[in-house]
Amino acid sequence: MQNKIIDGKSISVEIRNEVKAQTEILKREKGITPGLAFIIAGDNPASKVYVRNKGKACEEAGFYSVTEHLSENVAEKELLSLIEKFNKDDKIHGILMQLPLPVHLDTRKIIESINFKKDVDGFHPVNAGNLSIGEKCFVPCTPLGIVEMLKREKIETSGKHSVVIGRSNIVGKPVAALLLRKDYNCTVTVSHSKTPDMKLISSQADILIAAIGKANYIKKDYIKEGCVIFDVGINRVEDSSAKSGYRITGDVDYEDCFEKCGMITPVPGGVGPMTIAMLLRNTLDSAKGVVYER
Ligand code: NAD
Repeated sequence: MQNKIIDGKSISVEIRNEVKAQTEILKREKGITPGLAFIIAGDNPASKVYVRNKGKACEEAGFYSVTEHLSENVAEKELLSLIEKFNKDDKIHGILMQLPLPVHLDTRKIIESINFKKDVDGFHPVNAGNLSIGEKCFVPCTPLGIVEMLKREKIETSGKHSVVIGRSNIVGKPVAALLLRKDYNCTVTVSHSKTPDMKLISSQADILIAAIGKANYIKKDYIKEGCVIFDVGINRVEDSSAKSGYRITGDVDYEDCFEKCGMITPVPGGVGPMTIAMLLRNTLDSAKGVVYER
């Protein structure tokens, strides 16, 4: 019998071990070490933690990685020339610009300056376009982690109705585009903040993806009996019993939905750990040249 809880943490460990083993082979047989460059601008505490964790994951996988920490008021020109340096660097197969950027910088211009063949985050318009027309491309890591969990848990997707709540460029839109592909064959509905009757839509989902950014928003009356839930949300809620004074919760009210749903990802320990694992896999694929020829 399948486990009701989709354990993203243990699936991510499995993937990271696979990446590590394949990295050793790539080094041994081709003399290539996957290389990832992180760029962070400013002192956003969450961004710093994310980059540190991703750097550690690279080290464990046997990657080469480099982090450039720029000041909050870095000039656009300086950032663009750093990206250009990494674009030309043969040791670097992936470039990750940590978002959000300081407000004076034009996010679109910066992302577009990354060589799309090194855009392991899948945010470049060429990758977004290739994703929507079903071509090979780098797919954003969080949506990729979701479909990887579907595959590894052997969840049937063909002909299923998938409802995606949220239409961001990093989660909602790419996960919808992926599920629509012939590999998954879902019927996809995308909803958002202006969708008038969310319950009516979400309660038709066989597969529900919540990427809203609102703590415990999805209650049991929003879901269909037996549905599979992927909770992308990472929200801080006050918790006086926690040392830090807060805890992390998802967009889905886990306790409320648990009995009624068929399967669910917990927060933390569900979608989150998969994101880093897929970043490693995208970088490895870039180093191997299996997405775009190098
Ligand atoms: P976003 O703020 O860019 O987008 C949120 C989306 O939710 C918007 O499209 C908006 O229309 C929709 N929305 C807002 N209120 C709604 C409502 N009442 N009903 C229906 N739709 C509504 O956020 P994002 O970047 O997509 O992230 C969403 C959540 O996922 C956040 O909590 C974020 O922290 C988390 N996240 C987690 C990971 C991970 O690795 N687990 C990765 C990215 C984002």
